Amino acid sequence: MRAEGIETVRRILCVFPRYTSSFGTFEYAYPLTDGVQAFMPPQGLLLIAAYLPANWPVRFIDENIRPATKEDFEWAEAVFVSGMHIQRQQMNDICRRAHAFDLAVAIGGPSVSACPDYYPSFDYLHVGELGDATDDLIARLARDPARPERQVVLKTNDRVAMTDFPIPAYELAEVKKYFLGSIQYSSGCPYQCEFCDIPGLYGRNPRLKSPQQIVAELDRLLECGVTGSVYFVDDNFIGNRKAALDLLPHLVEWQKRTGYVMRLACEATLNIAKRPEILEKMREAFFVTIFCGIETPDPDALKAMHKDHNMMVPILEGVRTINSYGMEVVSGIIMGLDTDKPETGEALLAFVDESRIPLLTINLLQALPQTPLWDRLARENRLIEDDGRDSNVNFLLPYDQVVDSWKKCMAVAFEPEKLYARYQHQVDFTYTNRIKVPVTPEQKTWANIKRGLIMLRNIFWKVGVLGDYRKVFWKFALPRLKHGDIEGLISVALVAHHLITFARLASVGQHSASNYSIRLREASVPAE
Ligand code: SF4
Repeated sequence: MRAEGIETVRRILCVFPRYTSSFGTFEYAYPLTDGVQAFMPPQGLLLIAAYLPANWPVRFIDENIRPATKEDFEWAEAVFVSGMHIQRQQMNDICRRAHAFDLAVAIGGPSVSACPDYYPSFDYLHVGELGDATDDLIARLARDPARPERQVVLKTNDRVAMTDFPIPAYELAEVKKYFLGSIQYSSGCPYQCEFCDIPGLYGRNPRLKSPQQIVAELDRLLECGVTGSVYFVDDNFIGNRKAALDLLPHLVEWQKRTGYVMRLACEATLNIAKRPEILEKMREAFFVTIFCGIETPDPDALKAMHKDHNMMVPILEGVRTINSYGMEVVSGIIMGLDTDKPETGEALLAFVDESRIPLLTINLLQALPQTPLWDRLARENRLIEDDGRDSNVNFLLPYDQVVDSWKKCMAVAFEPEKLYARYQHQVDFTYTNRIKVPVTPEQKTWANIKRGLIMLRNIFWKVGVLGDYRKVFWKFALPRLKHGDIEGLISVALVAHHLITFARLASVGQHSASNYSIRLREASVPAE
């Protein structure tokens, strides 16, 4: 569905802001690839681009790939921006640059929807999801693209049903330059974890696209040249379990039809381990990774943050169950909780060893606006506005102690030997449980082979020859080569290199300890 009935033509420049350097965007892996420059295509802006009247020319710039230029701004009649809190500074900077060309600038997305007052300079604030506010914005720009005299705030009351969403305009993005493809099936989550803004922003009753829409989107992503992996950016893939079960057979069929060229990944709550019927279908659909917000192995802490659903099965048992369906678990971990004790760091490292999870995003607690955590800390007078700190929370333990503990956890958890040992465990006990994907002509294209060869060359040279952890690398790599598992070797080596490099810098204070962007919300923005 598109906005209709608009005859005037307007040229719209959609600009997605740069991320600050982050653990979860894998940027240190990019130099080992065949030209990846950014993490995932942003769903929100590409959705808006697809929704605009068919006769409106749209240009999409992801500033993680290249900055918007003078020529882009001179071409445009209005500018659209979207992003998360963590991109606030960059969004305000885009606004400033657009105003230098006297262009009206509209902002939508999760950050402005939660905190309109973060964006005083923008001409139009689009608060909430795709809906009547979007139509109003389009109508106003059609009438007059000039900057309004004062800021106009448009709030969505009547949302467009997700079943009416158009396919995001993937064709406008240079999808080959992204580390992962992205797609969204649902929005919202039934739980209410204290620190999370998803239920407040998107509701507790997940809204859904249809399986047919998802299949059409996957086809479009393939046409646009996405290779490798596609990430379902849904807040919780099993937020509506029946919907997940409805979708999965379509994904299985799609994989069979297209030759299993795509590996799938998603975010879901750990209690997915109690749903063998879903896990089995996910295995068949070639899901290879699930991001689970484990947050902490401490049951008291889980209770305190209202994440009891993580305890529906013992955590380690849940991880093993997911692994037994061929899926690697990626885990979110939070430090600086009120329940933390001086020995929390050690307990966390013991959990990392026991769980054998290779990739854990370990962050300091950050209070996001419009969350129960924010409200509680505000009542307790424990919110701190200080740009020099890595968190806005006044922890119960001394701040320096929490940050030092985080640095130590990063340094130890991602030592090359430990990390590669955890990956070896995944090779032996997780990856072996995946379906044996037939080798299809779609996989053996010259473009795919060339891509693989370029990445292998980069990995061998930069890690295997020049890297200071080359011995650890070769110990893992040689058996993989002997087994002909080139794809597995490449994907582990890319991610491991990023984790090792980032963690080393983080442990000496060169990266922030509160990267709350790690959950992949930036790409799942129906709130445009
Ligand atoms: S953290 Fe995850 S499970 Fe909890 S409310 Fe947010 S999306 Fe739902």
